[in-house]
Amino acid sequence: MSTKKLAKELGLLRQRSQTSAGTKKSAVSNQMFSHLIVIDFESTCWREKTNYSQEIIEFPAVLLNTSTGEIESEFHTYVQPQEHPILSKFCTELTGITQRQVEAGIPLQICLSQFSRWLQHLQREMGLVFPSSQHRSSEPSPSQKQCTFLTWSDWDLGVCLQYECKRKQLHKPDVLNSWIDLRSTYRLFYDRKPKGLNGALQDLGIQFSGREHSGLDDSRNTAKLASRMMRDGCVMKITRSLERVSGRSATHSIS
Ligand code: AMP
Ligand code: MG
Ligand code: MG
Repeated sequence: MSTKKLAKELGLLRQRSQTSAGTKKSAVSNQMFSHLIVIDFESTCWREKTNYSQEIIEFPAVLLNTSTGEIESEFHTYVQPQEHPILSKFCTELTGITQRQVEAGIPLQICLSQFSRWLQHLQREMGLVFPSSQHRSSEPSPSQKQCTFLTWSDWDLGVCLQYECKRKQLHKPDVLNSWIDLRSTYRLFYDRKPKGLNGALQDLGIQFSGREHSGLDDSRNTAKLASRMMRDGCVMKITRSLERVSGRSATHSIS
């Protein structure tokens, strides 16, 4: 099957009738997720290619309401790297994150438990529900507010967090096993390959706000891009899942 045909079947290609400004409301209400949590990690890095493992040094997450396009809550911490505790000059220049900020940060294990508590708070206070893989394709009940994660590329959740948790034998919340890759969604929807997150925004006439490679600013700008794509008629769907299908319950509990 051609990529275009597959994209059409997945509802990823822009429908001509939905692209005009006047269709804003109806396009947005098609979404299966009432909220998306946008994540963009920053990690240790070096100018020269090394075989050092990368560790998360900034862990931001922003909660995007898909109907209003507003960010309703944010989680943010700096994280202490432990395998290579001293940041390279290159890393500080790229990300703007200083040695002082990571030393004042917390280990990843504590960050993950604080993040889980933030998610539990969102579940309790806002009624958000995180669907598990086997029930993902079924229609949510009207009272449920379905929520999933969204990142720019598969690197954040499929590589960076996944391998760091494996190496350090940390428990990763199950909900982080599936997500929407906005980069591949963008490629299919607009049928073009963007030059990075900033290039993707620029192609749509949107200016990047804040500092590129700051995790929090990258997350907010990714949310802005996702919001614009939904206004253009893109229906956000999970693109990647690390889970094996099991006989477990319909929604994830956070632990
Ligand atoms: P980003 O979300 O694009 O800011 O990138 C996430 C992480 O990827 C950064 O914190 C760096 O560890 C790494 N990274 C991004 N761009 C580069 C680059 N040009 N050279 C080396 N590492 C990079
Ligand atoms: Mg990124
Ligand atoms: Mg970033």
